[in-house]
Amino acid sequence: MRVTRQASDAVWAPLIAAASPRDLCTDCGISRTNDAKRCGRACQFIKPDYAGLEQRVHGRARDGARADELFFGPLRRMLRASLHAPMAGAQWTGITTRIAEKLLASDAVDAVLTMAPDPDDHWRPVPVLVTRAEGMAQCRGMRMGYAPLLALLEPARDAGYRRLAVIGIPCQVYALRALESELGFERLYTIGTPCSDNTTTERFHEFLALISEAPETITYLEFRADYRVEIRYTDGRVKEIPFLQLPLSKLPNDFFPLTCRTCVDYTNVLADITVGYMGGEGEQWLLVRNERGEELLGLLGDEVRIAAPGSAGKRHGAVKGFLANVRRAAGGLPLRRMPDWARPIVGWLMPRIGPRGLEFARSRVEMKAIESVLHLRREEPARMKHMIPAHVWTLVEPYGLTPEDGERR
Ligand SMILES: Cc1cc2nc3c(=O)[nH]c(=O)nc-3n(C[C@H](O)[C@H](O)[C@H](O)COP(=O)(O)OP(=O)(O)OC[C@H]3O[C@@H](n4cnc5c(N)ncnc54)[C@H](O)[C@@H]3O)c2cc1C
Ligand code: SF4
Ligand code: SF4
Repeated sequence: MRVTRQASDAVWAPLIAAASPRDLCTDCGISRTNDAKRCGRACQFIKPDYAGLEQRVHGRARDGARADELFFGPLRRMLRASLHAPMAGAQWTGITTRIAEKLLASDAVDAVLTMAPDPDDHWRPVPVLVTRAEGMAQCRGMRMGYAPLLALLEPARDAGYRRLAVIGIPCQVYALRALESELGFERLYTIGTPCSDNTTTERFHEFLALISEAPETITYLEFRADYRVEIRYTDGRVKEIPFLQLPLSKLPNDFFPLTCRTCVDYTNVLADITVGYMGGEGEQWLLVRNERGEELLGLLGDEVRIAAPGSAGKRHGAVKGFLANVRRAAGGLPLRRMPDWARPIVGWLMPRIGPRGLEFARSRVEMKAIESVLHLRREEPARMKHMIPAHVWTLVEPYGLTPEDGERR
């Protein structure tokens, strides 16, 4: 089976229009639709209204008094989860793909909107509409970069698809939710993955070239919650590199675009269900956010093993160290590097005494909030009062970061 230009095939990649020029933009696809001006009310980088959309989508905004909602958004429950039979080629065990397959197989949706790999570069995402369950197999796994997913909403509607599932990263899901009521679909299921530290596919290739002499042989890469990067190669080899040994200080300052350094939604708070790994301690991590999310999880029946997520360690020291380094980087100074002799020791200690499980996920959300504040303050201060929601200020406050004049709405 192949990605094809035919609407009648299981995986369809319709031709899409060119993007309109935009400033802070991850090309979610809205600027390529018939009404490109919609970006003004759909974009998370312009004037986002997370609380309002959370209320509309989940029936209530995040409630800081409920356990962990300050960090992860509105929740019904969180789970550690794995498929009993992990799917070959999936990023983790393939929960995302399996939910979409079930939706198609049970005829709950007409199509699933997601990303397939580009036939010429498997790291490059290509937006596709999948209309039969067997088509989901070729979309499994993670691609690095962003691509105009939402440009396919109009072709989907024009093809007569009324019930749609969308698998997307947070900046795509934000725009989808902002426009949901005017899109005219009868039913919309939203399966989100967390996202952080994304960059263009071109730049990601630069990173691969730094970590391997034969980057073209790398088939899989994941930043795991045990502070290691897992890399798989075409010949079946698997390599694990502790984060501390990565050549991150060799990356240019603009390696990550400003969008991804300042995006405030790590955990995809507007999805019906978020499927990630950060709080999963080596398994997947599910955040069920509303009734529809429960329905999606229910489709997996006894194919999925679930448990309560664990939490251990203390994040405060790690987050403080991160803050100091981001301050240096945002000020144009080189990252503070650990002496070479200390790296193996700290690399060994981190998975054992560092924050783990939910505490790891909380630390990553706080780090991301710190990045948003410091990078925007340096590069786009005028945008701060619109782009930074109130809860982000609450997240960074324990680290001494508070709004300066004009930064808070
Ligand atoms: C750029 C990026 C960064 C991520 N960072 C984190 C993180 O920091 N913490 C965390 O917990 N999880 C992160 N994730 C999610 C994680 O990698 C897994 O995708 C997720 O846990 C689902 O695993 P799975 O086995 O169920 O997925 P699979 O069953 O393998 O399905 C993956 C789905 O994701 C879609 N997809 C792949 N690449 C992209 C892309 N570039 N853009 C949009 N959709 C895509 C595929 O089309 C497929 O439908 C990230 C994902 C991406 C794309
Ligand atoms: S809505 Fe999408 S296309 Fe429009 S500016 Fe934002 S990210 Fe770019
Ligand atoms: S880090 Fe944020 S802005 Fe960048 S691609 Fe991911 S969700 Fe979009």
